[in-house]
Amino acid sequence: MGLFSSRKTRIVDTDILVIGGGFGGCGAAYESRYWGRNLKVTLVEKANIERSGAVAHGLSAINCYMGMRWNENQPEDFVRYARGDLMGLVREDLIYDIARHVDGTVHLFEEWGLPIMTNPETGHYLREGKWQVMIHGESYKPIIAEAARKSVSDVHNRIMVTHLLMDSTHPNRVAGAVGFNVRDGSFYVFRAKAVIVAAGGASHIFKPRSVGEGMGRTWYAPWSSASAYGLVLNAGAQMIQMENRIVLARFKDGYGPVGAWFLLLKALATNAYGERFEASMLEEMKSLVGKYAETTPLPTCLRNHAVLQEIKAGKGPIYMHTQNAIDTREKEEIGWEDFLDMTVGQAVVWASQNIDPKEKPSELITSEPYVMGSHATCSGAWASGPEDCAPADYQWGYNRMTTVEGLFGAGDTIGGSAHKFSSGSFTEGRIAGKAAVRFVMALAGSTPQVDEAQINTLREEVFKPLQNHAIGRHQIVAGSVAPSYISPLHGLQRLEKIMDEYVGGISTLYMTSEPMLDRGLELLTMLKEDLDHIGATDLHQLQRAWELKHRVWTSEAVLRHTLYRQETRWPGYYYRGDFPKLDDADWHAFTASRYDAKTGEWQMSKLPVHHIVA
Ligand SMILES: Cc1cc2nc3c(=O)[nH]c(=O)nc-3n(C[C@H](O)[C@H](O)[C@H](O)COP(=O)(O)OP(=O)(O)OC[C@H]3O[C@@H](n4cnc5c(N)ncnc54)[C@H](O)[C@@H]3O)c2cc1C
Repeated sequence: MGLFSSRKTRIVDTDILVIGGGFGGCGAAYESRYWGRNLKVTLVEKANIERSGAVAHGLSAINCYMGMRWNENQPEDFVRYARGDLMGLVREDLIYDIARHVDGTVHLFEEWGLPIMTNPETGHYLREGKWQVMIHGESYKPIIAEAARKSVSDVHNRIMVTHLLMDSTHPNRVAGAVGFNVRDGSFYVFRAKAVIVAAGGASHIFKPRSVGEGMGRTWYAPWSSASAYGLVLNAGAQMIQMENRIVLARFKDGYGPVGAWFLLLKALATNAYGERFEASMLEEMKSLVGKYAETTPLPTCLRNHAVLQEIKAGKGPIYMHTQNAIDTREKEEIGWEDFLDMTVGQAVVWASQNIDPKEKPSELITSEPYVMGSHATCSGAWASGPEDCAPADYQWGYNRMTTVEGLFGAGDTIGGSAHKFSSGSFTEGRIAGKAAVRFVMALAGSTPQVDEAQINTLREEVFKPLQNHAIGRHQIVAGSVAPSYISPLHGLQRLEKIMDEYVGGISTLYMTSEPMLDRGLELLTMLKEDLDHIGATDLHQLQRAWELKHRVWTSEAVLRHTLYRQETRWPGYYYRGDFPKLDDADWHAFTASRYDAKTGEWQMSKLPVHHIVA
């Protein structure tokens, strides 16, 4: 350990360890306590659960609510919707499972104090669209965090989890996790009987449109650093659909949400010549994706595709005609509040660019890609499904357990079940929490074992970037560029450039192909070699270094899955130039991967898609 031998190691023993205190993690914490009254439940979070995760800054709508008590929608309707949006490829059992429980979650949120808007005529929740309900959501996260805090035995804020620990007596069983305190630098060892990973998806793996100082202003929170995927795939969990990245059409430069404008305020989008363009592209879309172009509503990727076609034809900018939608003071307030509740930056862009939404339209643009299995796409870990409705080959014991024993997931972590959003992620956390309690109770005396050697090796690895800097900085003769180490920011910029230019980012208009992916993999492999020599000046940079490693591991999965799926299933999310069309005959399947950290080998395969809802 050399330079850092005086560093403290803190051991925490627990029954259930929840990693990440966002929506999935808070749901897992709440439900684990409900079913496991006498168990020790520990929540570990790299920030502070009060304001952490993708909902840190609040939201203006809950995007997943059935409204079954008012007979508005049924879970089967939701499965059909998600399946249509994802061009046929979803885990219907997982989506159904969330849909049948999500209303109960939203009712709990209301009971805990979340103000949900109501329709003055019906008294029902005010709908933004078919699945969304409007909220006054600036304090959404603190309200949910309070419930989690009251449920768990301990919350450890400011601990960045870097690795999962494996059972020394049972190679495919999880035994806890390690990480470090980003404030005092202590090394943390959590020994647990079950682990629920809810550590959020991945922003900043592709180069963002925002540059320079604006780089932190991306659609997805810049602190969502791919740990949900990095942690579980490195532990050997099977992953699916990692190529299914998400691209969003949003207000330009501020990434402001468009849902309330399109769905509630009924604003229309046109090209620069005032033409509505989607409908006229139907035939062209059919030639690419066949029957999926006839899905109602039109899948999100195809709506992006239409925008991209217009931009390529020089008919941009694309405009949202806010000025035609605001005809009352109330609508104007809803429009502004929509941003102030969740994307204040967009209101600032309007102010700085002299845009009064009552007077002028606003530009829309497609974002850089993100990986996020709780939003409108399906990346994540392959998980066991609910006993009563999952097909036999989709279940192996406990609901939401990954292919690693005792390792559960929720929210962005779990693949195949898009459109969970905040309420669905919390619901999935509850499902995982309940199953983890059962798992722990069934373990009885067979507690996972962690050997000292594993802990010591990880401890050394975790702090190595500080050591690299402490030694290498003496070679710097001027400025800050070191000959023997790279900084986390330089590493991040290299990663974003590789993913952007070779794996289907904004600079190629989301286009990629086998030769591009092969070259990308070559460059990514070199970056991985250099990451052994990453240098961290302080604990803050050490956190950046580990966030980068999680992003790089995840990016490799994205690249390999993209290479493996030889078709273009989601035009508008990305295109394979060498396979420009959807190919249902060969690819109506999930792509799956398994990474072996010991050998560095990736194993790719297909998994079947079963349809259980007619
Ligand atoms: C811009 C944007 C807009 C959205 N709009 C809506 C909307 O209008 N309505 C809606 O219902 N949903 C919306 N969502 C979706 C919703 O935010 C997510 O579905 C939900 O937050 C996912 O829950 P999660 O627990 O998987 O991730 P998160 O809620 O992001 O939580 C992940 C947690 O893990 C922590 N963490 C990460 N890495 C580590 C680590 N290594 N160690 C320890 N802790 C770690 C993070 O700090 C965070 O607290 C939106 C999301 C985004 C990004």
